[in-house]
Amino acid sequence: MKPLIIVGAGLAGYTVAREFRKLDKTRPILIVTADDGAFYSKPMLSNALAQGKSAQQLASQSAAQMATQLDATVLTATDVLAIDGENQTIATAQGVHGYYKLVLAVGAAPIRLPLEGDAADQVLSVNSLDHYRAFRTRLAEQSASAKCRVAILGAGLIGCEFADDLAGVGHAVSLIDPNPLPLAAIAPTVLSQGMADALRTKGIALRLGTFVRQVSHAAGALQLQLADGGTLTVDLVLSAVGLRPNLALAQAANLTTKRGILVDRFGQSSTPDIHALGDCAEYTFDDGVTQTLPYVAPLMTAARAIARSLSGSPTAIAQNPAPIIVKTPCYPLALVPPPLHALGAGAWRASREGDATVCRFHDQHGVMLGFGVAPQQAALRQQLLDELAKQETLPA
Ligand SMILES: Cc1cc2nc3c(=O)[nH]c(=O)nc-3n(C[C@H](O)[C@H](O)[C@H](O)COP(=O)(O)OP(=O)(O)OC[C@H]3O[C@@H](n4cnc5c(N)ncnc54)[C@H](O)[C@@H]3O)c2cc1C
Repeated sequence: MKPLIIVGAGLAGYTVAREFRKLDKTRPILIVTADDGAFYSKPMLSNALAQGKSAQQLASQSAAQMATQLDATVLTATDVLAIDGENQTIATAQGVHGYYKLVLAVGAAPIRLPLEGDAADQVLSVNSLDHYRAFRTRLAEQSASAKCRVAILGAGLIGCEFADDLAGVGHAVSLIDPNPLPLAAIAPTVLSQGMADALRTKGIALRLGTFVRQVSHAAGALQLQLADGGTLTVDLVLSAVGLRPNLALAQAANLTTKRGILVDRFGQSSTPDIHALGDCAEYTFDDGVTQTLPYVAPLMTAARAIARSLSGSPTAIAQNPAPIIVKTPCYPLALVPPPLHALGAGAWRASREGDATVCRFHDQHGVMLGFGVAPQQAALRQQLLDELAKQETLPA
């Protein structure tokens, strides 16, 4: 019996394997991954310091343990080099494998900024356990004698979380972003302002409205040249400017791609029997709009639907709005950003509800399409989700 082949052993790959195994106990599953296949929860990378966890402790199960748990074969340190959609095979350096269905869960890669300077290659990014190990090693080396001076490029979700985490254990953090406020791409201004104030109160230096042009070695440290003429001397630079879906494998196999690997309502790519989910995928919604959703909740929903489809019951991916929780203890925030296409034709409105600031996004017809709340707590978040669900069932 030909196996279900899953490429990638991140949350997307392992979740689809787990969901499929619940429905089909006999079909072989082959998971092929470029990394060591250890299972870890990626969101924990940006708050592990505060939780006192090392990279090693974050890896909760090895590839061998995952293979046993899923009754699957996990090929680690193995790059999938090519897909032959017609003959239903994948090629690796170790050999060719046939599949009955293929799932691409190949994730995304950190965007590298075009920085000048003789230390531009010293800039770290964290998007895997290996990256995190390297980051913690550098942090330990640099802070052996004193607290570390860290510059973080990008004040989005991940930049803010790392800033809070590092400052929380005593490091001196500068957070640099070309926008006038943090979280500019996903949060309403009032909550971005709240985040900026909370980060400053925590001792984080915000360098907003500017960006880094150059990173150079300077007397055992790194010197940053900013576009506004300023300079900054630090020990470590962490880039958190975003991710780009890994498309090379899909594109070489002629799968349709936009920003991500384009999939339909069922998670199926443009080539029969090849599905995609997670950070590499671009999902299609009822209204034909497509969007990448690089968060855990959407990949869980997609994994459940794809697993059902793979086991013979075609199932569309549900479109439940799921909040993004920004894990910044200094300003706990929950957000359901409105769909990108609605942003230009609607507005945010803020109100105080108890101790919380609540922002609702309404489109031009007055329909609520998103919200943000800080400080977030479960009951209020659920109340807003219920409100959102009710709005979505209103006649157009
Ligand atoms: C620091 C950080 C904090 C985050 N916090 C949150 C949060 O609080 N909430 C939230 O919802 N989301 C959060 N996210 C996003 C979330 O973690 C990701 O959306 C999710 O983990 C993506 O999983 P994935 O399996 O799609 O990709 P990945 O985890 O990137 O896995 C990709 C896999 O594909 C493999 N691979 C790639 N190419 C090949 C190839 N050619 N051959 C073989 N294998 C290949 C890789 O080795 C890897 O195993 C965070 C992300 C980061 C980086």
